[in-house]
Amino acid sequence: MRKYKNGGQLETVICNCCGKKIIVSKGVAREGVIHISHAWDFFSEKDGEVHHFDLCETCYDAMISEFKIPVEREEQLEYL
Ligand SMILES: [Zn+2]
Repeated sequence: MRKYKNGGQLETVICNCCGKKIIVSKGVAREGVIHISHAWDFFSEKDGEVHHFDLCETCYDAMISEFKIPVEREEQLEYL
């Protein structure tokens, strides 16, 4: 989960899975974290719901290790 300051700057990131507080400095997460934001549509049973969560890198690695088909990986060509 994420909290933002009044100006919109990122203030806090907490892993929804394990509760770890991610280091945030000057509005930027300073360690590995994945943010998921998904709007469920008509074809789901959650039509109209938007779900958000964050996972630390450890929880992400644990989650994908359960996948039957590995995550697709490619090299990032440009660093934004
Ligand atoms: Zn975690």
